[in-house]
Amino acid sequence: MKITFLGTGTSQGIPVIGSNHPVCLSNDPRDKRLRVSVMVQWDEYTYVIDCGPDFRQQMLANNVKKIDGILFTHEHADHTMGLDDIRPFFFRQGDIPVYAHERVLKSLKKRFDYIFANENRYPGAPAVIENIIENNKSILLGNLNVVPVNVFHNRLQVFGFRFEDFAYITDVKTVPETELSKLTGVDILAVSALRIEPHHSHFNLEEAINFINRVKPKKAYLTHISHLLGFHEEVEKKLPKNIFLAYDNLTIEI
Ligand SMILES: [Zn+2]
Repeated sequence: MKITFLGTGTSQGIPVIGSNHPVCLSNDPRDKRLRVSVMVQWDEYTYVIDCGPDFRQQMLANNVKKIDGILFTHEHADHTMGLDDIRPFFFRQGDIPVYAHERVLKSLKKRFDYIFANENRYPGAPAVIENIIENNKSILLGNLNVVPVNVFHNRLQVFGFRFEDFAYITDVKTVPETELSKLTGVDILAVSALRIEPHHSHFNLEEAINFINRVKPKKAYLTHISHLLGFHEEVEKKLPKNIFLAYDNLTIEI
């Protein structure tokens, strides 16, 4: 299985438009972060988790020729606003499967009504195949059962996903005790860590590390990073030895 971090930034990305913050001005390519997304590939399958405003650029940067589906963690704009850019895949492959909580599908239908329309479709508009994700029900993707993990982003329900030995959980503030067993024995855990200071709907660095210590993966990667977390190089030096900062286009093979 190959994991590619397509984007590792928080909602505004790094650099933030117009910002003079030193991290936004950094020349280290690892301090340039597109909106958060990850690509999971195995055998002949390619799935992408979330489809934010940088989706087009992410697909180009990684020369992605085909996708088998898009999973959505939740409906926030930084995770969904690139959906129109599935068009090249749609033209080549036909309707693209999307997987999301019923609430998230409803929200996507409002914002992208033309994509979901059954009548009077605009020629050239992409189309999707809707798949509802329910908690405690695994999703068959290709030949793999993927386990949704139900977590909370302040009060908003969000899905994380476990693909065998890899789990991805972003935009999380609390993880119900009942969900922890779904992560037992995972080798690689990617989890969001926004910044140093606490935040009402995201793990800060300390909360992310505490969560990793409960799950006990072999290795963990932090993502959904704000410029307020600091310079990649400096933050990573201070992390426990099995925890790393993800960066855009980092790939991991499991
Ligand atoms: Zn987000």
